[in-house]
Amino acid sequence: MPALAACSSTSTTAPPPAEPRAEVRPKNVILFISDGCGPASFTMARAYRRDVLGRDEGLALDPYLVGTVQTHAADTRVTDSAAGATAFACGVKTYNGAIAVDTLRQPLGTLVEAAEARGLATGLVATSTITHATPAAFSAHVPARGMTAEIAAQQITRGIDVLFGGGLRDYLPVAEGGSRQDGRNLLQEARAAGYTVATTRDAFDRLDAAPALALMAPGHMAYELDRNGAEQPSLAEMTRKALDLLAGDPDGFFLMVEGSRIDHAAHGNDAAGHLHDILAYDEAVAVALAFAREEGHTLVVATSDHETGGLTLGRSLDGRGVYAWYPEVLAGVRRSNEGLAKMLEAGADPAAVLRAGGLDPDDLDAADRQALLDAAEEGDTGAFLARYNDVIARRAVIGWTTTGHTGVDVNLYAFGPGADRFRGNQDNTDVGRRLADLLGLDLPAA
Ligand SMILES: [Zn+2]
Repeated sequence: MPALAACSSTSTTAPPPAEPRAEVRPKNVILFISDGCGPASFTMARAYRRDVLGRDEGLALDPYLVGTVQTHAADTRVTDSAAGATAFACGVKTYNGAIAVDTLRQPLGTLVEAAEARGLATGLVATSTITHATPAAFSAHVPARGMTAEIAAQQITRGIDVLFGGGLRDYLPVAEGGSRQDGRNLLQEARAAGYTVATTRDAFDRLDAAPALALMAPGHMAYELDRNGAEQPSLAEMTRKALDLLAGDPDGFFLMVEGSRIDHAAHGNDAAGHLHDILAYDEAVAVALAFAREEGHTLVVATSDHETGGLTLGRSLDGRGVYAWYPEVLAGVRRSNEGLAKMLEAGADPAAVLRAGGLDPDDLDAADRQALLDAAEEGDTGAFLARYNDVIARRAVIGWTTTGHTGVDVNLYAFGPGADRFRGNQDNTDVGRRLADLLGLDLPAA
């Protein structure tokens, strides 16, 4: 490892250096990934919590900011989640779309495989489908992220102890309401391999031993703003359950937890959906930090694979830069874009949809109101949401510059034994390599 500046002495009268102390290594590692969450997004979440919710203590992550991460892929400066997750899981740069394979499409050893080989327990938790790019790169090897049927088939054969998320459709054949063309029922195969399988909230709550597979939505799980707690657990609840099931392993564990849909909301330029999934992610981090403080041998690392949306706080309005932004505009929003779209498609009154979105129809300027009502009338949900998001963004004085990803560096947080190793600005592949090194894992051999 590179010497830390703080460890070197420049004084000629200093005593001879002590024997280097044995480096403290973690027994357990919890890696949090906030998909598509850049620095401005964390600022937005913190300001909302402080100024709207009245909670002054900052984000759970805030005290543990140690550095920043460069996110570029092998083939472009703007990564996707597949190349980004492969960098963390395998410590290697690859092309956008690659799931734990290199630029020659050859499989790369992952942290999960190396951990399993060393006898550690392993777990993956996501709010997207469990076959989505980030969890996939920790559990499968395919040349293209869209190969979700193959990803599902691979991820139940790796001895992973905990798999929680959405994505039931990828596990079931077409004849049973799924999307698999090969007729396989992977839930049955998982049960035969020893997994306890949960597809409902009640069954999830009853899980009390690993290996456990919980797929609680046909596709992605709900955005936090839309989530019905009777049907789906929160990311914090899934994290707590994963820790309950993994912590008993005497060899330690590796757990990856992803706030997956932070990214999806940013793709849609859905500010409130983005915000509430970040707050839910931070609550999940708080659960892990409490566990780590109590347990004493657990390293918690949190970072993002990339920024999404090009979010800015403050923007130009009518050609003039405005020196303000207003998180309170988001306070009245009770549904994500996805939730508003469902209301529209179910034939709800457009005025009621706008109110659920935090807008009073009588308080809109005439052009906005007409455009929104016209789009609703024509059943053009995309046009409705684009106009709605633009109204919200102008009122909050926030900006979005893309519906895709951007190339800015992302935040890196670390707490626990080995946290010092993550100081400074580093490449995303360094994060994966350092985690492997701290756990004594051999990635290339995996
Ligand atoms: Zn994305």
